[in-house]
Amino acid sequence: MKYSEWVAPERYNLTSEMERYAPGKVALKWLGENGEEAEISYGDLLKQANRLAGGLAKLGLEKGDKVLVTVPRRIIAYAIYLACLKLGLVIIPSSEMLRAKDLSYRLRHSEARAVISWPSVTGEVDRIEDELPELKHRIVAKEAGDLSAEEGWLNLNALMEGQSDTFETADTSRDDMAILAYTSGTTGNPKGVVHTHGWAYAHLRITASWLDIRESDTVWATAAPGWQKWIWSPFLSVLGSGATGLVYSGTFEPKRYLHLLQDYKIGVLCCTPTEYRLMAKSHGLDEYDLTNLRSAVSAGEPLNQEVINEFRKHHNLTIRDGYGQTESTLLIGNLVGSPVRLGAMGKSMAEGLALVVDDEGTPVPPGTVGNIAVHGELPALFREYFKDPDRKQQSMRGEFFITGDRAKLDEEGYFWFEGRGDDIIISSGYTIGPFEVEEALMKHPAVKECAAVASPDEIRGSIVKAFVVLREGVEGTQELIKDMQSRVKEWTAPYKYPRKIEFVTDLPKTASGKIRRIELREQEKRNAAK
Ligand code: ATP
Ligand code: MG
Repeated sequence: MKYSEWVAPERYNLTSEMERYAPGKVALKWLGENGEEAEISYGDLLKQANRLAGGLAKLGLEKGDKVLVTVPRRIIAYAIYLACLKLGLVIIPSSEMLRAKDLSYRLRHSEARAVISWPSVTGEVDRIEDELPELKHRIVAKEAGDLSAEEGWLNLNALMEGQSDTFETADTSRDDMAILAYTSGTTGNPKGVVHTHGWAYAHLRITASWLDIRESDTVWATAAPGWQKWIWSPFLSVLGSGATGLVYSGTFEPKRYLHLLQDYKIGVLCCTPTEYRLMAKSHGLDEYDLTNLRSAVSAGEPLNQEVINEFRKHHNLTIRDGYGQTESTLLIGNLVGSPVRLGAMGKSMAEGLALVVDDEGTPVPPGTVGNIAVHGELPALFREYFKDPDRKQQSMRGEFFITGDRAKLDEEGYFWFEGRGDDIIISSGYTIGPFEVEEALMKHPAVKECAAVASPDEIRGSIVKAFVVLREGVEGTQELIKDMQSRVKEWTAPYKYPRKIEFVTDLPKTASGKIRRIELREQEKRNAAK
């Protein structure tokens, strides 16, 4: 098989990746919103997980049972994931920002037997009105030492009491389900993506050359539990590399982030384009000492050139973009040491792993826009969409799984992102990727964030409309619109310029912070219909 180096041993449990490090090594450092601090070693983290696994087993939960976990950025989140996986349970990672209707959808669709939650979320679970006949246990995690519990809930600390520090990991196969991850829902209802233990084996090895984590590093991967990206980086890649992870509970604030990067001597940073963008556009980026920061990567959305330039200018640091999906892992990226081409996402993570194909599944030559695709045999590709086995098949073209995103390759094998298939704008017969327009607009000093979408037009079918958030203190005038339009025409092919620009204070985003162009597009359609 082509991808044999990424195929896990037949009997394999992903938690084995975290059990080979010195027990005394600090695994996680936690920092609370108000400066509270805590840390835990690999040895103690595993003991905690083992006690919890013992407690969960005593409740009667067993291999294959599904557990929805909705716990914020805390050390206990790591212990819970480890415990469930050691026991062979299937985790449904869920953000603490989900509301009753989102939780209900996931609980019912997955037929979860237990939910492990946090005091701030139990209320949302209790608000669910639908019948949940499969749901037998509601468990609430609390601060260490707190044994209280809300009515109808079991306290997780109490569950761990008296349990053994050791626990024999369930005998799982590489094909056993480990994670049932619902997608971000950027374009529609979330889909339940089934990942196996073997997926994690492949993920760890494929992404290693992108993240470049060393055991001696303190790593800050900012994703929150509940998103697949949390499993990718803070959970699997940090603990699977024997490094120390920073867990920060506070909210995003650019200056605070820069301070933490400096004070905690972060060596590897993994965050979203939005976070980088706001740091780059906040005044005083050069006031921080980021000399320890060796590796900085971005994923989840397109990364703008301007952001890369700002960090280069002030810190001689090149942020490396990476592209992936909940359905697989990182497929395309800029590996450490290989030259970054501004505006491109990087290259296939390995020969033949990601490619660009036409709608029939035939690879297209460089320069032609097509579908980003991945080989169906890749061990890091999901097994199926839960309870919807045909859906994966619908995305297969011959040997390839079609991601739904559009891009073109250049002669050297770099991928240039065009946009999500649905976000592509067709105007007067021209196909325009929103990202190119946004990229050009971002070069304008007045622009903080922007999104380009199709707006219905009687003559052209659609025109490009840009929604722009201005930097603090800038006033949105007609002159500014004219200036932006003429500058965009200089920076990109003139037919791509936004014929309409609207200033807004915010862009619609998913809970994970991705721009929801679909909302703006729908809004334009509704307005046109009026
Ligand atoms: P849904 O499938 O429910 O609509 P989603 O696609 O946003 O949600 P994810 O799997 O979290 O859910 O996100 C993967 C998508 O994010 C990719 O298909 C792509 O559109 C976008 N993406 C990820 N990384 C990058 C990147 N580096 N550059 C551009 N786009 C990216
Ligand atoms: Mg998707």
